[in-house]
Amino acid sequence: MVLAQLGGSISRALQQMSNATIIDEKVLNDCLNDITRALLQSDVQFKLVRDMQTNIKKIVNLDDLAAGHNKRKIIQQAIFNELCKILDPGKPAFTLKKGKTSVVMFVGLQGSGKTTTCTKYAYYHQKKGWKPALVCADTFRAGAFDQLKQNATKAKIPFYGSYMESDPVKIAVEGVERFKKENCDLIIVDTSGRHKQEAALFEEMRQVSEATKPDLVIFVMDSSIGQAAFDQAQAFKQSVAVGAVIITKMDGHAKGGGALSAVAATKSPVIFIGTGEHMDEFEVFDVKPFVSRLLGMGDWSGFMDKIQEVVPMDQQPELLQKLSEGNFTLRIMYEQFQKILKMGPIGQVFSMLPGFRAELMPKGREKESQAKIKRYMTMMDSMTNEELDSSNPKLMNESRIMRIARGSGRQIREVMEMLEEYKRLAKIWSKMKGLKIPKKGDMSAL
Ligand code: GDP
Repeated sequence: MVLAQLGGSISRALQQMSNATIIDEKVLNDCLNDITRALLQSDVQFKLVRDMQTNIKKIVNLDDLAAGHNKRKIIQQAIFNELCKILDPGKPAFTLKKGKTSVVMFVGLQGSGKTTTCTKYAYYHQKKGWKPALVCADTFRAGAFDQLKQNATKAKIPFYGSYMESDPVKIAVEGVERFKKENCDLIIVDTSGRHKQEAALFEEMRQVSEATKPDLVIFVMDSSIGQAAFDQAQAFKQSVAVGAVIITKMDGHAKGGGALSAVAATKSPVIFIGTGEHMDEFEVFDVKPFVSRLLGMGDWSGFMDKIQEVVPMDQQPELLQKLSEGNFTLRIMYEQFQKILKMGPIGQVFSMLPGFRAELMPKGREKESQAKIKRYMTMMDSMTNEELDSSNPKLMNESRIMRIARGSGRQIREVMEMLEEYKRLAKIWSKMKGLKIPKKGDMSAL
């Protein structure tokens, strides 16, 4: 994933600085130059990057930093703040209320990923207990209705559209009316996209908007256009009241950083990013947790969000309770592996945590990783209850390791590798100690 590359370059630069025995001007400059290079490669505007560098140097005056001050922390914090500034639209996103009927209209150019994103958005909310519905008011692109129908059916979301009717306004109105009657609380209207910003597209958008009176208009944009996102977002904003932006294809293009910063410059909040073609390759976008992740500092709120999404509602409190206790046993690892195999990519949940990113379940290597997890579980099947329930790594001595290897028909080396993986996960898990636990059924409190 390209964003991971940007994050990797930035966290590597920070790591190198941390490895230096003394942090002097040269070390700081090297670190900032590496970060600058990574941001420019991601198509972030030159002026933004230059200002960021100047500001950090102003804040971090190495001579003034009194001895005993943690220079690394101060530098990291300054970089964090400056990156947040670049991505902050200065305006919070408009929030919709579950249970109260809302109409959300999607706009964007053809090929931007609009139809796919409509379903991802509906699916995301459905998993959080909303009652979404999809209306296909794209009568321009042949096959648009079929595509929406297919996606909606897969996600078990009600949909409305027509093969015969060519008036998008009529379809939109009929669809919205119908789903209002059915008490849907999130009615999503997909509109036509054209190849470029043309008058007819904007006129049609205005008409659909006037007729359906959406509570929120979401502009969908392909990240591959990088900085050019500024002009595109402005043009759409001038024609219709865009309340939020979703940037797609963040997995496939090097220019994601440029697109994100350019949209922020139009003062439009980005609310989600698309990270793949599949329905669940969709992430909430929030500036601070996002930058946190880029810097390799972890993303706790994203982690909680994914837990809510991936772990069944009734199992969430138990998992959170265990997390908050901070005691990670091999049995917990086993149970988590079981859930992962049942529910799909662990990468999605654990990539939010520092040190975990894409290691356990790297993208494109899911099959291999699943096989690895199954192998680990076979070895754990040969463990005693005492071993599974202990969080004392010293318990696993040589003779126990040999017994487990024999019992599971695996090599000693493999058992040791599994125990290493356990230690690594335990370290990350322990950081969750003291986590605030929501009451049963009240996950929204997080
Ligand atoms: P529309 O014309 O704007 O409605 O675009 P579509 O929804 O038909 O998407 C165009 C193409 O982009 C399809 O092949 C989608 O699968 C793909 N796509 C959409 N979102 C993403 C994303 O986040 N990542 C990737 N890799 N592909 C995406």
